[in-house]
Amino acid sequence: MILYQSNNIPYSKADLHIHSKLGDGTATVKEILDYVQNYTDLKVISITDHDNFESAEVAKKWMEQKKYNFEFMPGMEVTTLSGHLLALNIKKPIRKWQSLKKTIIEVHRQRGICIVPHPLSWLALGIRRGCLNYVAKNQGGHLYVDGIELFNSTLVGRMGQRNATKYNRTILKTAELGNSDAHNLSSIGTAFTLFQGNTMTDLFAAIKYKQTLPLGKFMSIKENIRLCKERNILYKRIYKKYLRSKIKKLPLFRKKKNFIEI
Ligand SMILES: [Zn+2]
Ligand SMILES: [Zn+2]
Repeated sequence: MILYQSNNIPYSKADLHIHSKLGDGTATVKEILDYVQNYTDLKVISITDHDNFESAEVAKKWMEQKKYNFEFMPGMEVTTLSGHLLALNIKKPIRKWQSLKKTIIEVHRQRGICIVPHPLSWLALGIRRGCLNYVAKNQGGHLYVDGIELFNSTLVGRMGQRNATKYNRTILKTAELGNSDAHNLSSIGTAFTLFQGNTMTDLFAAIKYKQTLPLGKFMSIKENIRLCKERNILYKRIYKKYLRSKIKKLPLFRKKKNFIEI
């Protein structure tokens, strides 16, 4: 990949694939925004929870209240019938379990952009070769992908990187991006997209003209295990809360409650 430097404009970093506590991440939206401000040099970020667009509303509130020196792109990671798709710069949530074609068209109708995360990875519900071939062959109108995530710092990203890079350079030929897919604070920005300029508009132009560069470092096996443990604790907490709410609704418990009240 060749990046053309013009007018000595500096390069900046973007991380467009981060998960928050509103989904299966471990940090709140506010904690993520503060971490990006205080510990990274990212200029554009997006929080992309699975089939959940709440982060956009929450982040908007904090971005208006506090002075952050980076821009926030609303987004979500949508589960399509063919796998995960990053729907970025959208205005409204996109429904899950729709066909890949329908999802892509809906994102573009909202003037959003579609990035293929952890491509070809069966382990992380990455979109498979056959589905990407379909998009490549039939692209036109609203049906196309804006970019592909060729650097994803997680273990699944590491596993699929070589094949995905080869695939994109020979068949799909779309913009190449790097994202952390962070589920905890310290992973944010470990992988990123390098682009010329420092605003969201500059990033859109770089993606459009395929002038982005995926870079970063992979999480070590140790870091992956630590993260799995952290997330397990979170899952257990959510599951316990869910179970408690369900138990309270059981007729047996309802009767007992009524009995006590009477
Ligand atoms: Zn995913
Ligand atoms: Zn993800």
